[in-house]
Amino acid sequence: MRIGIPKETRDGETRVAATPETTKKLIAAGHQVLVERHAGVLARFQDQAYTEAGAELTDAATALSAETVLKVRAPSAAELTHMKSGSVLAGMLDPFDNEGLAAMAAAGLTAFALEAAPRTTRAQSLDVLSSQANLAGYKAVMLAANHYGRLFPMMMTAAGTLKAARVVVLGAGVAGLQAIATAKRLGAVVEASDVRPAAKEQVESLGAKFIDVPFETDEEREIAEGSGGYARPMPPAWMARQAELVAQRCQQADIVITTALIPGRPAPQLVSADTVHRMKPGSVIVDLAVERGGNCPLSVAGQVVEENGVVLVGLTNLPGMVPTDASALYARNLLDFLKLIVDAEGKLAINREDDIVQACLVCESGQVLRKN
Ligand code: NAD
Repeated sequence: MRIGIPKETRDGETRVAATPETTKKLIAAGHQVLVERHAGVLARFQDQAYTEAGAELTDAATALSAETVLKVRAPSAAELTHMKSGSVLAGMLDPFDNEGLAAMAAAGLTAFALEAAPRTTRAQSLDVLSSQANLAGYKAVMLAANHYGRLFPMMMTAAGTLKAARVVVLGAGVAGLQAIATAKRLGAVVEASDVRPAAKEQVESLGAKFIDVPFETDEEREIAEGSGGYARPMPPAWMARQAELVAQRCQQADIVITTALIPGRPAPQLVSADTVHRMKPGSVIVDLAVERGGNCPLSVAGQVVEENGVVLVGLTNLPGMVPTDASALYARNLLDFLKLIVDAEGKLAINREDDIVQACLVCESGQVLRKN
């Protein structure tokens, strides 16, 4: 099979869908790999490393017109013009973007959005949300540390003692748990909140304190369990109690890292403008949910802004700030996914009975298969 690896064209995208390591494995599996020149350069993978792995270097049009195309982001309108009807595309295609899906369907692509994979043990090795969110959680703490005018650990020096930073993490999924672990490693005192009761044990196992928002009805508890491992929107009464607790914790905090998301919906607003105004000057908020509207209404996508002495980091695509590791993990996710749609001879054999394949298949034969 001819597999194309185009250079990503979306603004600020530094990652690449195949590394020299995965290219070598694809070639060993009998595929021909066409890598666009400089496709990996922003992730620090040079063209020569791809040719040494056995790839052919090509232009964008050739990589995009391959039988199977691996990408990081959904193709732009310009990229779609080069892609062949009936070809296979796999990537992070944003399965909730109806317009994007319609464009890929209209181009006749058989498209797989890997974000839609189920959160099951079998799907773990191709779980792009996890592989990338984990890095985002780490990088969020690094960004917070950079913008914070003080240190994270408690430090006793001859010139006096420095207090440990107090970190609050809102949303303890993959990104949040990595943020907790990273902040703890740096010596901060960490507390965290999540709507899912299962998160309490995970937060505590990392040595952080869980900010418990009590459930007052069975309905609240049932909604909080979520579905498929994901959170669901909580009733307003619970959100109000959470807001009150969060406001209290944020006022004590030096760093707030927010990661709360609900699939297919705007991010829940957890840190109000009023809470920001009550926070200590010099505090830092890193809003990882900013692309989905933000967990704080004052954060601005793509920018670092200041409000009343509080720095709000709304930078997007944090995995793209560690592009070498992000690409390495993402490319391995794709490699594992390909095993589900390619047979032992290296030919396309899409097993539509497979639950992962079914969940990820978003367009085929001109149709959008997913209803949002
Ligand atoms: P996500 O990115 O969709 O959301 C981040 C976190 O925000 C979640 O933990 C969610 O519960 C939380 N959240 C939503 N609303 C909130 C609110 N109002 N207040 C506080 N927190 C709120 O989630 P994710 O990181 O992708 O993880 C989702 C779940 O899937 C987790 O339970 C995770 O452990 C699980 N998971 C399972 C597997 C697997 O079994 N293979 C793999 C990855 C993740």
